[in-house]
Amino acid sequence: MTDSAQPAAGWSAADSAELYGINAWGAGYYSIADNGHAQVTINPGEGDVSVSLMDIVAGMRARNLEMPAVLRIRNVLDHRIKVLNRAFADAIASGGYTNVYRGVFPIKVNQQCHVIEEIADYGTRFHHGFEAGSKAELTIALSQLRDIESLVVCNGYKDSEFIDLGLYARRMGYPCFFVLESVSELRMIIERSRALDVEPLIGVRMKSSVKVDGHWSQDSGDRSIFGLSTPALITVVDELREAGMLHCLQMLHCHLGSQVPNIRNVRNGVLEACRFYAGLVEEGAAMGYLDLGGGLAVDYEGARTNSTHSMNYQLEEYCVNIVESIRETFDPLDIPHPVIVTESGRATVAYSSMLLFNVLDVRTWEPQHIPEVLPEGCNDTLRNIREVLDVVGRENFQECYNDALFYRDEIREMFQHGQATLRERALADDICLAVLQRIVVLLPGMTRVPPELENLPELLSDIYYCNFSLFQSLPDIWAIDQLFPIMPLHRLQEEPSRRGMLADLTCDCDGKIDKFSLPAGTSSTLPLHGLREDEDYILGVFLVGAYQETLGDLHNLFGDTNVVNVTVNSDGSFDFAREFHGDSIADVLSYVEYEPKHMQEQFRRVAENAVRSGRISVAERQEILRAFRDSLQGYTYFEHH
Ligand SMILES: *Cc1c(COP(=O)(O)O)cnc(C)c1O
Repeated sequence: MTDSAQPAAGWSAADSAELYGINAWGAGYYSIADNGHAQVTINPGEGDVSVSLMDIVAGMRARNLEMPAVLRIRNVLDHRIKVLNRAFADAIASGGYTNVYRGVFPIKVNQQCHVIEEIADYGTRFHHGFEAGSKAELTIALSQLRDIESLVVCNGYKDSEFIDLGLYARRMGYPCFFVLESVSELRMIIERSRALDVEPLIGVRMKSSVKVDGHWSQDSGDRSIFGLSTPALITVVDELREAGMLHCLQMLHCHLGSQVPNIRNVRNGVLEACRFYAGLVEEGAAMGYLDLGGGLAVDYEGARTNSTHSMNYQLEEYCVNIVESIRETFDPLDIPHPVIVTESGRATVAYSSMLLFNVLDVRTWEPQHIPEVLPEGCNDTLRNIREVLDVVGRENFQECYNDALFYRDEIREMFQHGQATLRERALADDICLAVLQRIVVLLPGMTRVPPELENLPELLSDIYYCNFSLFQSLPDIWAIDQLFPIMPLHRLQEEPSRRGMLADLTCDCDGKIDKFSLPAGTSSTLPLHGLREDEDYILGVFLVGAYQETLGDLHNLFGDTNVVNVTVNSDGSFDFAREFHGDSIADVLSYVEYEPKHMQEQFRRVAENAVRSGRISVAERQEILRAFRDSLQGYTYFEHH
């Protein structure tokens, strides 16, 4: 299909920026250059350096890293860590707060080795540590220990192996905390610390009663599956006192849930946590650390509201709220200001990654072949529907809509009974579509659109078939209706004249994206350009660095995509710092217990049988076996050859 509409005169990159809202959700990192390319800016606001994402894509292709691919900009990740730490440092300095901030990155949000290593390397200057929720994640955290002041916070259920690992980190002098999820865990920690003769650092996870807006509201409240009830908290204190270890209880942990869109929830959560902390101080616990968990949101919509995928506050406001709430609660009680810990995952990594893919095909709903005159002797119903097409207009569109559907259904009925041919049925469908298309063109000028016609533009919008798997690369769209900003990476100086929804490669009716947040409102279609014969059309899904990569699954056996890590230099050049080729077909088959060597052997027997019975020649056998072998080594996605 080609783009039939002429680019509207006067359309510019700035118009596209407004249409897609990139300057709001891009947070200074993403914008559109005058040449119509999406670009990434490093260190926004401090001597901006920008790079065209299409230039990076060209570099990827030259390196045989095809779409779909995850593109990660390392500078953006570094910058997120810096702004988070700076914002807390500023709030602490200007708020008269007498202790420090120590961030930890929750490993579950993105466990990819290169992400974790980057956070460890870059975070060291801020003593940024890690939060681990399982034994595997603890081994990751321990392997990244760089500096003796970075915290390791262990959440989740812990067995004795988990506890021993953490105690060894303590013995080496690292501040590794066990946050208690249950009383039984405490008994094991006491026992293991005595056996290994290491004093543990202990935290307690409280259940917050603050109700949070948005998706994850179940994480908080009395029924939350995490954390200790207040009576259990008292039991912990009593047992520690009895064991002579109350001085080991040094942290209160509170996690309201992820993506908290409303600053009021944050403030109420902190205030309640402060009361718990004060209560523990009163009980005689040593304390010293207040861990407020994750929850710092990302404005995926750029809307600045308290709706689920947005947020009604800025990072600075978040930090000031926390610092002030703690100081105002503790000063009158003469409680020393604790070290503030947060476990921001989403807000740290979301911005640094995007998913890139090409469009393979477009399905439009244009009528295919309506002849000028109907064939001789064709049936009356066809003549009737054809007349509707001739007369449809502003005055009679409702009547024409009803008639077109009526005659179309009549032909379908006749076809069912053998009274109309396949060609006649196809023609009726086409003519009906033509009528609907004419009505859609008329709708925008109407003052009142009948409810039954409201969805018509949507029903007739294009379907863009795209080279990715929703289940592998964007699982939260499927699982929790997450909204991510999506946009073409190029041609943005041209008006996007079509509207379409996106379908992925899986043969699953859920493998589609039909909800987009645009400044003009949430829509089931995205403005897009018509495809060109000679040029790939490339789309980007932005802000996908958090949670998407390891939650994904192998639906239809589409495997991990290629991953590219780019570092942008201060002169505007860029380096391919690290690259990873995605799964081959042999890789994904082995995940489901196939043995690719054995499969080749089995297939060789199939081919040999065909030779023996004379269906193929030996030379053909070799060619077929080679194709089979090459397929096993190939990418699981659509490849250009
Ligand atoms: C998931 C989780 C986080 C991360 O939350 P974000 O909203 O992504 O920052 C932090 N702490 C705990 C305990 C978690 O379970």
